[in-house]
Amino acid sequence: MSDQPPHDISEHISKDAASWSTAPLLNFLLHYTRETAEQGRYSDRISGLKAIDVLNKGYTEEDPLPDESEELRQSLLQLIHDGPGKEKVPKGTSVTIVGAGVSGLCAGYELKKAGFDVTILEASSRVGGRVVTFRDPIFAPGLHAEGGAMRIPGNHFLLRTYIDNFKIGELFNFEMQNKFIYLSEYRGGTTLTYDDFNDKLKRQEPELLKLFPSLKKCERGHTIDKLWEVAVAPVVEDFRKAYKNAEGDKPFKIKTAYQAITNLYDKYTLRSYLQERANWSPDAIKLYDLSNAHVVFENGFIESFKDAFLSSNSQGAQVGMQQLQGGMDLVPKAFISPDRGENSLIDNIIFGARVTHITDPKPSPDPKIPTAPQIKITYETTGSKKLTVESDYLILAIPNTALRAITKSRPFATAQEQAIRDVRYVEVTKVLLQYKTRWWEQIFTNHNLGTDGGLVSDLPIRYTVFPVSKDNDQFKHSRRGAIMAAYTFEQDATILGAMSPERQIRIAAENLHTIFPEAKSLELLEAGTSQVFPSDELAGGSAFCYFGPGQKKQYLEAMCESDWKWPESSRLGKPRVFFAGEQASYTHGWIQGAMEAGLRCVQQVYAIATDLVITVRDGKEKQEGEEGVVAE
Ligand SMILES: Cc1cc2nc3c(=O)[nH]c(=O)nc-3n(C[C@H](O)[C@H](O)[C@H](O)COP(=O)(O)OP(=O)(O)OC[C@H]3O[C@@H](n4cnc5c(N)ncnc54)[C@H](O)[C@@H]3O)c2cc1C
Repeated sequence: MSDQPPHDISEHISKDAASWSTAPLLNFLLHYTRETAEQGRYSDRISGLKAIDVLNKGYTEEDPLPDESEELRQSLLQLIHDGPGKEKVPKGTSVTIVGAGVSGLCAGYELKKAGFDVTILEASSRVGGRVVTFRDPIFAPGLHAEGGAMRIPGNHFLLRTYIDNFKIGELFNFEMQNKFIYLSEYRGGTTLTYDDFNDKLKRQEPELLKLFPSLKKCERGHTIDKLWEVAVAPVVEDFRKAYKNAEGDKPFKIKTAYQAITNLYDKYTLRSYLQERANWSPDAIKLYDLSNAHVVFENGFIESFKDAFLSSNSQGAQVGMQQLQGGMDLVPKAFISPDRGENSLIDNIIFGARVTHITDPKPSPDPKIPTAPQIKITYETTGSKKLTVESDYLILAIPNTALRAITKSRPFATAQEQAIRDVRYVEVTKVLLQYKTRWWEQIFTNHNLGTDGGLVSDLPIRYTVFPVSKDNDQFKHSRRGAIMAAYTFEQDATILGAMSPERQIRIAAENLHTIFPEAKSLELLEAGTSQVFPSDELAGGSAFCYFGPGQKKQYLEAMCESDWKWPESSRLGKPRVFFAGEQASYTHGWIQGAMEAGLRCVQQVYAIATDLVITVRDGKEKQEGEEGVVAE
């Protein structure tokens, strides 16, 4: 890595460039320029204030980090508000949805409201899939902790809209900042405040640097957030150039700029980008790994770049992360609540229904009678009896990894099949613990660090979140607390996941005791549980989709395409199968993405279902509106 600062960018940042879609990059710039301006190191080359001024006008803390799905904002919010369109859905049009996770529920709810006959087949006995909130009887009455989704970024407008519309409950802040770090190799195992750790890196404290002997000269004396910012500066620069050079309106320029950095950099994994493009030493990579919670080096680079706020203390604070007062499972439960009145999905769901096989419609023996046969969906019931349901349309709202276990009468399109086999998923294991008292609050307070926040460590637990105390209803009447003691990824998740549940709890509790021995927390431990996604069959043995290098460009469009056109051979054949699930969205890995994909399917199904079937006069199929065609 060169010791030079990134290119001068300030002259190119204008109000025009400050849009929802450019903000991930601009947020980075904001932080970068702020730091450098504060340090005065490159102040002659970068006018930090100018950039900050522009960005503060565009993005404030109320307007936090956006996502690519912003371009869908208007149409999806309109769908939630007004339904998918004005055309009446033909009576009796049926849709079967596989999976009562958030994606399937969201699709089912909007389709039911629009007039479709909806059936949801859910293999388990509950709704929510990868939204798993543990409560009584796992934890003491009044306590809960999240085995799956736990936080809500400020810009996840779909989830926030449903929370508002359904009056699901209050949101309060989620502390993204890591406050402590534990390194077992440092002085025989030491807990440091994160600020102290950063300070030691800046001061190049010899004992700490002994852990990272191959750090290059230019890598020494910087925090890891700083090294990351410098490493990705060329990507920011290329984005800017592409944006500036593109002709057309602003959305087009933004799209072009995203395409440009994807073309240039998405062939890299996070690791290969840092090694080959940023020239990081092996110890800079080790430092990044040890001092962050969410680093998965084999993910595609642009994916990692987009989500870097998760592993950056400085950017993490900017995303307006919040949590739901009563627990995240209130979101899926809201779709089946009696409060939804006649739109509640409770009786549309068949629980204990594991789909095993789907059969496509057979062509009509008489091409002049275009009666569309229905898709047949076979499922095993809890009593292991096989049943079938037939419907006009099918939405698959399960992870690709679970979809692989479903057999079918004919394959989907080649790209879809390849995506189902190939698209990358990451593994996660979490361990959650309940303590008789919230012993950590005193430790945080002793260090003037509030009462809560993150802890990263190189022990098997890797990342711990001590939940926010302020405004947390769970903690109002009790001194108890439940924490996410371990949040592990990939190999760490497999290792922890392979242990017995008792051992997972013991290891997690002992790790925390090692990190904060003064708390004597083992004596306070009351209960625990774990969520092991590598062995969760209904999640397909994985936590969430995270594209590998080049996969987003290669697959995302194909993953959103509908399939099994009927009549199969006809140019005008209409698709019958649709693909929801968090993976088929811009915002995969998040509830927002699951909703985005579900709503996209609603739009697709509605468009096909309301394009009224035709009478064929001259022996050829035609669509309504074409010459010689009348609507029935
Ligand atoms: C560890 C972890 C942390 C996360 N953190 C966050 C977070 O902080 N914030 C956030 O917004 N998102 C987070 N997410 C992501 C979010 O939970 C998911 O994106 C979302 O819940 C996925 O919803 P889905 O409907 O696409 O899939 P799922 O939730 O997996 O739903 C699929 C459903 O299909 C069922 N099913 C599977 N196979 C079959 C079959 N053959 N027949 C019938 N039914 C079947 C399953 O039982 C399940 O109910 C996290 C996810 C994980 C795993």
